Amino acid sequence: MRRKLAAGNWKMNGLSASLTETAALLAQVSDIRAEVLICPPATLLAPMAAQVRTGALALGGQDCHPASSGAHTGDISAQMLRDAGATYVIVGHSERRADHAETDSMVRSKTEAAWAEGLRAIVCVGETEAERDADNTLAIIGGQLAGSVPDQATGENLVVAYEPVWAIGTGRTPTLDQIGEVHDFIRSRLEKRFGEGVGRSVRLLYGGSVKPGNAAEIFGVSNVDGALVGGASLKASDFSAIATALD
Ligand code: PEP
Repeated sequence: MRRKLAAGNWKMNGLSASLTETAALLAQVSDIRAEVLICPPATLLAPMAAQVRTGALALGGQDCHPASSGAHTGDISAQMLRDAGATYVIVGHSERRADHAETDSMVRSKTEAAWAEGLRAIVCVGETEAERDADNTLAIIGGQLAGSVPDQATGENLVVAYEPVWAIGTGRTPTLDQIGEVHDFIRSRLEKRFGEGVGRSVRLLYGGSVKPGNAAEIFGVSNVDGALVGGASLKASDFSAIATALD
């Protein structure tokens, strides 16, 4: 049984005043069965960890460096994330792939670094609009999965997020059939590579303009085990509505 997961990616948003939002979220999701995760900016990890000690919310980073420490100005390591209270980290988000020229092999190294620290990695994959229009979606996703996911994947250490680049922050979403096609494809690739047991236990999230109004229908699609949510995770009432739709 895969536990449903609602993961919020705050991106470069949030100041100490935003802790009131986390407090509200904690109260709103205390009774739900799905796992709820917030990936705030690194500056808020430690204060949030102090806030959520009850364990009702999991915390994650938005990226990590492949090395555990050293001369890498401005970067953050998996060890630091864990030290600050994270149990998850997002790797290979399309904004990092685009803004920081992250390749599949870099994402793979980051995932290995996360695992070395006992963090669960949420590995993001997704096609651009041009790639979808050219009918290359599955080839792109297959290549990203093969290149970004290390060989030691398990249902415990890996979550895969399918995030079509053209759906992120745009208010546009694929059709439910398109989401289902990609999620079934990812599941079959994982089963083929890691065996049925592991392949079936990895959680697959959909990400890209998930809102309270479309969450339930997206969660009804086969092999969708939750969502990676950007904009709508910033407001406790919206994010808790999405998380509740998973129950
Ligand atoms: C994201 O950036 O991971 C994301 C899904 O953003 P949004 O929900 O705002 O489209």
